[in-house]
Amino acid sequence: SKAKLFDEKNSIKVSFKDVAGLEGAKDEIVEIVEFLKNPEKYTSIGGKIPKGALLVGPPGTGKTLLAKAVAGEANVPFFSLSGSDFVEMFVGVGASRVRDLFKQAKEKAPAIIFIDEIDAVGRARGKSNFSGSNDERENTLNQLLTEMDGFGSHTNVIVLAATNRAEILDKALLRAGRFDRQIYVDLPDVKEREAIFNVHLRNIKKVDNLDIDFLAKQTPGFSGADIANVCNEAALTAARKNKTQVDMQDFLDAVDRIIGGLEKKNKIISPEE
Ligand code: ATP
Repeated sequence: SKAKLFDEKNSIKVSFKDVAGLEGAKDEIVEIVEFLKNPEKYTSIGGKIPKGALLVGPPGTGKTLLAKAVAGEANVPFFSLSGSDFVEMFVGVGASRVRDLFKQAKEKAPAIIFIDEIDAVGRARGKSNFSGSNDERENTLNQLLTEMDGFGSHTNVIVLAATNRAEILDKALLRAGRFDRQIYVDLPDVKEREAIFNVHLRNIKKVDNLDIDFLAKQTPGFSGADIANVCNEAALTAARKNKTQVDMQDFLDAVDRIIGGLEKKNKIISPEE
């Protein structure tokens, strides 16, 4: 379904309706939509529009989705890259990739630039780096800082970046005039999980009496991405059994499988095991 989110002009079809829960984050980020749509309102009175905001929260909680929704709501192009793309790059490539991206975005302004996993390039300098390509990572980070500092007051490009771990980021990134706003995106509570189920059930043919509240209660600790996964798995299971509607058993089987997957993942990453 990813292809549907973008047309050839990078315009985004995601809206706030697609983002369930996250009311606090949405309240904050809606201001960025305003800045993109109506910059003169803020600049003519002498205000400086923020250049960047950091979306902070666990994996799969909707940070990318929220960034796309900002672009969709403001009806501006969405340019993105992932910090992890830079880890294995040859010298000079990371910095020039960043330069290109900002150049394109400025040409198409107003625009959103989204940098996923910014910690991969934005880790505090001088700390250990498993990839061994520390210099190139620093070049890339420096280029990013240079680009953001170079925004004039009329650039009208806003950089959103996502991370699971704001505390490991280089303080230079968080300085005033860079990513000086942080927006928290948490795991959903039971009501929010119900809302996320409702979003992902929109296009699924399900039995009429499906108890969504019960499903939300069965899925503590699940992220939005996990819930999207449950809905899709349930639909595939039902189809495999030649059913025409997805029923509760299909959903509960999918929940079990995903809990199994989460337990395995936790075992692998937990250092105590
Ligand atoms: P990561 O940190 O792993 O990059 P993320 O926070 O950027 O994760 P997304 O990529 O936005 O998470 O979420 C993955 C998918 O999970 C979304 O495309 C969407 O289908 C679903 N999802 C996550 N959160 C929500 C939400 N709040 N409402 C609806 N769907 C959600």
